[in-house]
Amino acid sequence: MSNIENNLVRVRHSIAQSALDAGRNSNTITLLAVSKTKPAEDIEAAVKAGQFDFGENYLQESLVKMAQLQSHPIIWHYIGAIQANKARVIAENYAWVHTVDRIKVAERLSCYRPSNMLPLNICLQVNIDGEGSKSGCQVGELEALVKAVTELPNLHLRGLMAIPRPGSGAEPFRRLAQLRETINKTLDIPLDSLSMGMSQDLEQAILAGSTIVRVGTAIFGPRAQVM
Ligand SMILES: *Cc1c(COP(=O)(O)O)cnc(C)c1O
Repeated sequence: MSNIENNLVRVRHSIAQSALDAGRNSNTITLLAVSKTKPAEDIEAAVKAGQFDFGENYLQESLVKMAQLQSHPIIWHYIGAIQANKARVIAENYAWVHTVDRIKVAERLSCYRPSNMLPLNICLQVNIDGEGSKSGCQVGELEALVKAVTELPNLHLRGLMAIPRPGSGAEPFRRLAQLRETINKTLDIPLDSLSMGMSQDLEQAILAGSTIVRVGTAIFGPRAQVM
Protein backbone atom coordinates (compact mmCIF):
# COMPACT_ATOMS: atom_id res chain seq x y z
CA MET A 1 0.00 0.00 0.00
CA SER A 2 1.12 3.57 -0.67
CA ASN A 3 1.75 5.89 2.26
CA ILE A 4 -1.37 7.86 1.46
CA GLU A 5 -3.47 4.72 1.30
CA ASN A 6 -2.01 3.55 4.63
CA ASN A 7 -2.68 6.92 6.21
CA LEU A 8 -6.27 6.90 4.97
CA VAL A 9 -6.83 3.50 6.54
CA ARG A 10 -5.46 4.83 9.82
CA VAL A 11 -7.55 8.01 9.76
CA ARG A 12 -10.72 6.09 8.89
CA HIS A 13 -10.00 3.73 11.74
CA SER A 14 -9.62 6.59 14.18
CA ILE A 15 -12.88 8.15 12.94
CA ALA A 16 -14.64 4.81 13.45
CA GLN A 17 -13.15 4.42 16.93
CA SER A 18 -14.13 7.95 17.96
CA ALA A 19 -17.65 7.42 16.60
CA LEU A 20 -17.89 4.22 18.64
CA ASP A 21 -16.69 6.07 21.77
CA ALA A 22 -19.31 8.74 21.13
CA GLY A 23 -22.06 6.19 20.53
CA ARG A 24 -22.47 7.49 16.98
CA ASN A 25 -22.74 5.74 13.64
CA SER A 26 -19.49 6.43 11.78
CA ASN A 27 -21.34 6.84 8.49
CA THR A 28 -22.70 10.14 9.83
CA ILE A 29 -19.13 11.52 9.63
CA THR A 30 -17.55 12.62 6.35
CA LEU A 31 -13.79 12.62 5.98
CA LEU A 32 -12.69 15.68 4.02
CA ALA A 33 -9.12 15.19 2.77
CA VAL A 34 -7.34 18.56 2.83
CA SER A 35 -4.96 18.57 -0.13
CA LYS A 36 -3.69 22.15 -0.15
CA THR A 37 -0.07 22.46 -1.37
CA LYS A 38 -0.11 18.77 -2.39
CA PRO A 39 0.24 17.68 -6.03
CA ALA A 40 -2.53 16.12 -8.13
CA GLU A 41 -0.72 12.75 -7.92
CA ASP A 42 -1.31 12.67 -4.16
CA ILE A 43 -5.00 13.35 -4.68
CA GLU A 44 -5.13 10.62 -7.30
CA ALA A 45 -3.56 8.16 -4.85
CA ALA A 46 -6.26 9.02 -2.33
CA VAL A 47 -9.01 8.65 -4.95
CA LYS A 48 -7.67 5.18 -5.75
CA ALA A 49 -8.07 4.41 -2.05
CA GLY A 50 -11.73 5.44 -2.15
CA GLN A 51 -11.51 9.07 -1.00
CA PHE A 52 -13.69 11.52 -2.98
CA ASP A 53 -14.13 14.65 -0.84
CA PHE A 54 -11.19 17.05 -1.03
CA GLY A 55 -10.63 20.44 0.59
CA GLU A 56 -8.54 23.24 -0.89
CA ASN A 57 -7.51 26.67 0.44
CA TYR A 58 -5.69 28.36 -2.42
CA LEU A 59 -7.85 29.15 -5.42
CA GLN A 60 -5.29 29.31 -8.24
CA GLU A 61 -3.57 26.15 -7.10
CA SER A 62 -6.87 24.31 -6.80
CA LEU A 63 -8.04 25.25 -10.31
CA VAL A 64 -4.89 23.75 -11.80
CA LYS A 65 -5.45 20.51 -9.90
CA MET A 66 -9.13 20.39 -10.82
CA ALA A 67 -8.17 20.56 -14.49
CA GLN A 68 -5.65 17.77 -14.01
CA LEU A 69 -8.16 15.59 -12.18
CA GLN A 70 -11.23 16.20 -14.33
CA SER A 71 -11.75 12.52 -15.07
CA HIS A 72 -12.30 11.69 -11.38
CA PRO A 73 -15.66 12.14 -9.62
CA ILE A 74 -14.23 14.44 -6.94
CA ILE A 75 -16.36 16.59 -4.65
CA TRP A 76 -14.41 19.82 -4.10
CA HIS A 77 -14.76 21.83 -0.89
CA TYR A 78 -13.38 25.34 -0.56
CA ILE A 79 -12.02 25.90 2.96
CA GLY A 80 -9.78 28.95 2.47
CA ALA A 81 -10.27 32.64 3.15
CA ILE A 82 -12.67 34.25 0.66
CA GLN A 83 -12.01 37.57 -1.00
CA ALA A 84 -15.29 38.94 -2.36
CA ASN A 85 -13.78 39.39 -5.85
CA LYS A 86 -13.04 35.64 -5.99
CA ALA A 87 -16.61 34.59 -5.23
CA ARG A 88 -17.42 33.97 -8.89
CA VAL A 89 -14.59 31.47 -9.45
CA ILE A 90 -15.48 29.68 -6.23
CA ALA A 91 -19.19 29.53 -7.13
CA GLU A 92 -18.38 28.12 -10.55
CA ASN A 93 -15.99 25.38 -9.43
CA TYR A 94 -16.86 24.07 -5.99
CA ALA A 95 -19.61 21.89 -4.51
CA TRP A 96 -19.13 23.18 -0.94
CA VAL A 97 -17.79 26.32 0.73
CA HIS A 98 -17.01 26.06 4.46
CA THR A 99 -15.73 29.57 5.10
CA VAL A 100 -18.63 31.96 4.49
CA ASP A 101 -18.57 34.57 7.25
CA ARG A 102 -20.33 37.62 5.82
CA ILE A 103 -23.48 38.43 3.88
CA LYS A 104 -21.73 40.17 1.00
CA VAL A 105 -19.76 37.03 0.16
CA ALA A 106 -22.87 34.83 0.48
CA GLU A 107 -24.80 37.12 -1.89
CA ARG A 108 -22.06 36.98 -4.47
CA LEU A 109 -21.73 33.21 -4.25
CA SER A 110 -25.47 32.85 -4.84
CA CYS A 111 -25.47 35.40 -7.64
CA TYR A 112 -22.63 33.70 -9.52
CA ARG A 113 -23.69 30.08 -8.94
CA PRO A 114 -24.41 28.74 -12.46
CA SER A 115 -28.06 27.79 -12.91
CA ASN A 116 -27.18 24.39 -14.36
CA MET A 117 -25.41 23.38 -11.13
CA LEU A 118 -26.96 22.24 -7.85
CA PRO A 119 -27.14 24.89 -5.12
CA LEU A 120 -23.77 25.55 -3.50
CA ASN A 121 -23.50 23.84 -0.09
CA ILE A 122 -22.56 26.36 2.58
CA CYS A 123 -21.11 26.19 6.07
CA LEU A 124 -20.90 29.43 8.01
CA GLN A 125 -17.55 29.95 9.69
CA VAL A 126 -17.88 31.07 13.29
CA ASN A 127 -15.11 32.76 15.24
CA ILE A 128 -15.69 30.47 18.18
CA ASP A 129 -12.66 31.73 20.17
CA GLY A 130 -13.70 35.37 20.16
CA GLU A 131 -10.50 37.29 19.46
CA GLY A 132 -8.53 34.08 18.80
CA SER A 133 -8.52 34.49 15.03
CA LYS A 134 -9.60 37.05 12.49
CA SER A 135 -11.76 34.83 10.32
CA GLY A 136 -15.31 33.76 11.03
CA CYS A 137 -18.35 35.76 12.04
CA GLN A 138 -18.85 36.65 15.69
CA VAL A 139 -21.32 34.49 17.59
CA GLY A 140 -23.59 37.51 17.96
CA GLU A 141 -23.74 37.99 14.18
CA LEU A 142 -24.58 34.38 13.40
CA GLU A 143 -28.37 34.50 13.59
CA ALA A 144 -28.64 37.36 11.09
CA LEU A 145 -26.21 35.61 8.75
CA VAL A 146 -28.15 32.34 8.96
CA LYS A 147 -31.40 34.12 8.09
CA ALA A 148 -29.83 35.99 5.19
CA VAL A 149 -28.21 32.90 3.68
CA THR A 150 -31.42 30.85 3.82
CA GLU A 151 -33.05 33.54 1.66
CA LEU A 152 -30.48 33.20 -1.14
CA PRO A 153 -31.77 31.03 -3.99
CA ASN A 154 -28.59 29.31 -5.14
CA LEU A 155 -27.14 28.42 -1.76
CA HIS A 156 -27.99 25.45 0.45
CA LEU A 157 -27.13 26.26 4.04
CA ARG A 158 -25.77 23.04 5.55
CA GLY A 159 -24.13 23.98 8.82
CA LEU A 160 -21.41 25.64 10.85
CA MET A 161 -17.65 25.50 10.70
CA ALA A 162 -14.90 26.57 13.09
CA ILE A 163 -11.13 26.41 13.45
CA PRO A 164 -10.50 26.69 17.19
CA ARG A 165 -7.09 27.72 18.42
CA PRO A 166 -4.88 24.60 18.52
CA GLY A 167 -4.80 22.97 21.93
CA SER A 168 -8.01 24.56 23.15
CA GLY A 169 -9.57 21.17 23.82
CA ALA A 170 -13.15 20.03 23.40
CA GLU A 171 -14.85 23.16 24.70
CA PRO A 172 -14.97 25.21 21.44
CA PHE A 173 -16.32 22.15 19.60
CA ARG A 174 -19.09 21.79 22.17
CA ARG A 175 -19.92 25.47 21.82
CA LEU A 176 -20.24 25.18 18.04
CA ALA A 177 -22.46 22.10 18.43
CA GLN A 178 -24.61 24.04 20.90
CA LEU A 179 -24.96 26.93 18.44
CA ARG A 180 -26.23 24.53 15.81
CA GLU A 181 -28.78 23.11 18.28
CA THR A 182 -29.98 26.60 19.11
CA ILE A 183 -30.41 27.51 15.45
CA ASN A 184 -32.23 24.26 14.73
CA LYS A 185 -34.63 24.90 17.60
CA THR A 186 -35.17 28.65 17.74
CA LEU A 187 -35.06 29.43 14.02
CA ASP A 188 -36.41 26.06 12.92
CA ILE A 189 -33.67 25.85 10.29
CA PRO A 190 -32.37 22.28 10.15
CA LEU A 191 -28.58 22.49 9.83
CA ASP A 192 -27.22 18.99 9.21
CA SER A 193 -23.49 19.70 9.23
CA LEU A 194 -20.79 20.60 11.72
CA SER A 195 -17.42 21.06 9.99
CA MET A 196 -14.89 20.78 12.79
CA GLY A 197 -11.82 18.77 13.72
CA MET A 198 -8.45 18.46 11.95
CA SER A 199 -5.53 16.00 12.17
CA GLN A 200 -4.68 16.92 15.76
CA ASP A 201 -8.13 17.03 17.29
CA LEU A 202 -10.54 14.97 15.20
CA GLU A 203 -11.35 12.64 18.11
CA GLN A 204 -12.49 15.49 20.34
CA ALA A 205 -14.46 17.03 17.49
CA ILE A 206 -16.29 13.77 16.79
CA LEU A 207 -17.10 13.34 20.48
CA ALA A 208 -18.67 16.81 20.36
CA GLY A 209 -20.74 15.96 17.27
CA SER A 210 -18.64 16.80 14.22
CA THR A 211 -20.11 15.57 10.90
CA ILE A 212 -17.19 16.67 8.69
CA VAL A 213 -13.58 16.36 9.80
CA ARG A 214 -11.04 18.24 7.67
CA VAL A 215 -7.82 16.24 7.69
CA GLY A 216 -4.63 17.18 5.84
CA THR A 217 -1.37 16.25 7.53
CA ALA A 218 -2.53 12.85 8.83
CA ILE A 219 -3.32 11.80 5.24
CA PHE A 220 -0.79 13.60 3.04
CA GLY A 221 2.06 14.23 5.50
CA PRO A 222 3.48 17.57 6.62
CA ARG A 223 3.18 20.56 4.30
CA ALA A 224 6.04 22.79 3.26
CA GLN A 225 5.64 26.30 4.64
CA VAL A 226 3.56 28.42 2.26
CA MET A 227 3.67 32.17 1.79
C1 LIG B 1 -5.08 23.12 6.41
C2 LIG B 1 -6.44 23.03 6.98
C3 LIG B 1 -6.93 21.84 7.55
C4 LIG B 1 -6.09 20.58 7.71
O1 LIG B 1 -5.20 20.73 8.77
P1 LIG B 1 -4.28 19.47 9.25
O2 LIG B 1 -3.81 19.91 10.58
O3 LIG B 1 -3.19 19.35 8.25
O4 LIG B 1 -5.15 18.28 9.32
C5 LIG B 1 -8.24 21.81 7.99
N1 LIG B 1 -9.04 22.90 7.89
C6 LIG B 1 -8.61 24.06 7.37
C7 LIG B 1 -9.53 25.21 7.28
C8 LIG B 1 -7.30 24.16 6.90
O5 LIG B 1 -6.88 25.33 6.40
